[in-house]
Amino acid sequence: AKNLGRDNFFIFDRETAPAGVNRLKLVEELRRGIDNNELFLEYQPQIDLMSGRIVGAEALVRWTHPERGRLMPGEFIEIAEQTGAIISLGRWVLNEACRQNKAWQDAGLPHITIAVNVSANQFRDKALLSDVFSALDTSGLDARYLELEFTESLVIQNVEQAVALMEDFRRIGIHLAIDDFGTGYSSLVALKNFPLNRLKIDQSFIRDLEYKESDRAIVRAIISLGRELGLNVVAEGVETAKQQAFLLSCRCETTQGYHFGRPMAADKFSKLLGMTRTP
Ligand code: C2E
Ligand code: CA
Ligand code: CA
Ligand code: CA
Repeated sequence: AKNLGRDNFFIFDRETAPAGVNRLKLVEELRRGIDNNELFLEYQPQIDLMSGRIVGAEALVRWTHPERGRLMPGEFIEIAEQTGAIISLGRWVLNEACRQNKAWQDAGLPHITIAVNVSANQFRDKALLSDVFSALDTSGLDARYLELEFTESLVIQNVEQAVALMEDFRRIGIHLAIDDFGTGYSSLVALKNFPLNRLKIDQSFIRDLEYKESDRAIVRAIISLGRELGLNVVAEGVETAKQQAFLLSCRCETTQGYHFGRPMAADKFSKLLGMTRTP
């Protein structure tokens, strides 16, 4: 094992070898965890700033690992993406999010849009369209109450293919949102090419709004850009009343963040939704 060259060196590195083994174990456990119903979703409210009403929820996946307890997506999504496990994970998330939203509607709660995160690898997979159809069909949820969130990383892959798939989604009434807007290098290319309904300003631009005039200028500009393009604009990571007031002054339509509500279990979310029932 001497002449394998630089690219293969990591295989024999004492520091990374054990981590590699753990990753394999994690993928195996994740596959089993999906089958054993160890995954669950939390829901974070999205608020219409003018009315103060909940208009949507973002579904965020969590995993109750039998030994390690509750894991956040940061601890397993990347590995799922690299190994292809994201396809079955994503399918589970789609089904569960649609089922839950339909259950809220059937319980007489206000109708909201449920937003599901779709990773670049899911988007490349041919099965995504049929997975989405099947989740809507099985749950009975109307397509207009489902939103797919994706990041601009799709742009650097196959733009034409991505646009064609997005147009298929739009045709059946599904909403499309670009997530983490402004964090990559191709945000404007994504705006130019993709048939979007919504733009989500990344939380890194919201965090320091109170202290940084430059961030205020950027956020103001993104909001008016979104408005010019006829997109709904959501500010993510809104944690304070001051941030919210600033966003309102810029006529930002929607917010999402700890200030209004953290991601929460379905039963807690449904109580919150029930309290905001329209008169
Ligand atoms: P994201 O799509 O940008 O989701 C927003 C993240 O910001 C969530 O973290 C949420 O809990 C957190 N957040 C919300 N409001 C605030 C706030 O006011 N302050 C701060 N500091 N954070 C806030 P979470 O749940 O840990 O998810 C992390 C990422 O994992 C997500 O980022 C998304 O990229 C990915 N993810 C989550 N669920 C799924 C899923 O079902 N499928 C896929 N493919 N990715 C997912
Ligand atoms: Ca998201
Ligand atoms: Ca985001
Ligand atoms: Ca993100």
